[in-house]
Amino acid sequence: MKYYIEPSKEIPVKGSVEVLVVGGGPSGFGAALSSGRMGRKTMIVESYGAIGGVATTGIMSHWTGHQEGGIFEELREKARDCESEEVINPEKLKIVMLKMLQEAGVIIKLYTNFSDVIMEEDTLRGIITESKSGREAIYCDMLIDSTGDGDVAAKAGVPFEKGRQDGGMQPMTIMFKVAGVDMDRAMFFWGFEDTMKLPEGDLQTVGRKELPSPAGHILLYPSSLPGVVTANMTNVINVDGTNTEDLIKAEIQCREQISEIIKFLRRHIPGYEGCYLIDSANMIGVRETRRFEAHYQLNERDISEACVFDDWVVSKSRFFFDLHNVEGAGLDADGEYKTFTQDKPFTIPLRCFVPKRIRGLLLNGRNISGTHKAHSSYRVMPIVMNMGNAMGVVAAMSVNQGKHPLEIDIDTIHSELSKQNITL
Ligand SMILES: Cc1cc2nc3c(=O)[nH]c(=O)nc-3n(C[C@H](O)[C@H](O)[C@H](O)COP(=O)(O)OP(=O)(O)OC[C@H]3O[C@@H](n4cnc5c(N)ncnc54)[C@H](O)[C@@H]3O)c2cc1C
Repeated sequence: MKYYIEPSKEIPVKGSVEVLVVGGGPSGFGAALSSGRMGRKTMIVESYGAIGGVATTGIMSHWTGHQEGGIFEELREKARDCESEEVINPEKLKIVMLKMLQEAGVIIKLYTNFSDVIMEEDTLRGIITESKSGREAIYCDMLIDSTGDGDVAAKAGVPFEKGRQDGGMQPMTIMFKVAGVDMDRAMFFWGFEDTMKLPEGDLQTVGRKELPSPAGHILLYPSSLPGVVTANMTNVINVDGTNTEDLIKAEIQCREQISEIIKFLRRHIPGYEGCYLIDSANMIGVRETRRFEAHYQLNERDISEACVFDDWVVSKSRFFFDLHNVEGAGLDADGEYKTFTQDKPFTIPLRCFVPKRIRGLLLNGRNISGTHKAHSSYRVMPIVMNMGNAMGVVAAMSVNQGKHPLEIDIDTIHSELSKQNITL
């Protein structure tokens, strides 16, 4: 490979904040909001033009799993757009999330990409961003990496794993919406095991035969708008969300699948005969990439045995192992829907968020320390939003007290979380 040596140059310093949140998805939103509400000077940096990540720019269908308390419950109520409390209207969500951050005094930097870290030995002091305004530096006391892929932690040199043991990661999907659905007759398919009988056979089996592989499963969710249904049906495997070539390949493959999927819906599913495409996500949905090394790695037993950690910071979380097939359509052999029987909630300890050697940095959202299988459960939006809620609290207390996150008295963290409606 040929290399170009970039000459050094002066970069304007655009600010200095106490808490810097990079990534404005559900986890970053929770983190920035709680830190801002605790009175810390907080900034959120986001590549796209909207707050919300996969929830909004990714035009997501619904909140999955169970999560009680905290910012998640508050947002779900404020952004609710119909009778169902699960169904999301991403357009309403964009407005509500932005307004809540503004009310908390958070500095909002949209259309801004994280580019590099500013380190002093093993301590993260700030970042360099790239935007229409050029390269800029921002200093901070504590940074919460909420980029999903953990772009900041990777640049800071925190070791990570990707996917299962052979590196295989969950597939990518571009969500899309169809209108013109006859809602009185339409059926919805919330999971891979939901199906119906067709004259041609079982719907999910017909899907495997007729849809362009590796698409092949039928997942269709009602929206809050009349005649509009959200589809989670495009599917691309063997791609890595931290590799731009792979992202482009996946984007093209998903878009090629959409018209075939719509023809399939019209042909086979009652109520969808006259459906047509009205929207698709500007951001391809990446389910899984880097999971970083921290002081503790959450594993599947911690979830299936509903473990309660002494240093819990996320509580009352419940979800099965939603492992999409790494090698094709449908549920992975290691995934568990109906076989998952635990109905008690699990907790996530603070140690999963704190990288071992690097100071001034917290992990957050789907990039925290966990196994491939555990990740398939804790990655859902309600749970990662309350991870963010907790990380905002921890970062604010760390700055206030001038202490490393693991040196803060855990009882004081619990007492602050309980003021924010997060208890065991
Ligand atoms: C296709 C798909 C379907 C899903 N379905 C559901 C569902 O129905 N219900 C549910 O609850 N969960 C669902 N999930 C899971 C859930 O959406 C994600 O796991 C969750 O959004 C992760 O939140 P996050 O904040 O960690 O990351 P993300 O939502 O990915 O947000 C990361 C944010 O960081 C920004 N960012 C990334 N890199 C940079 C950078 N270098 N500089 C600046 N900003 C950056 C991104 O633009 C993005 O806004 C789904 C996920 C996918 C992919």
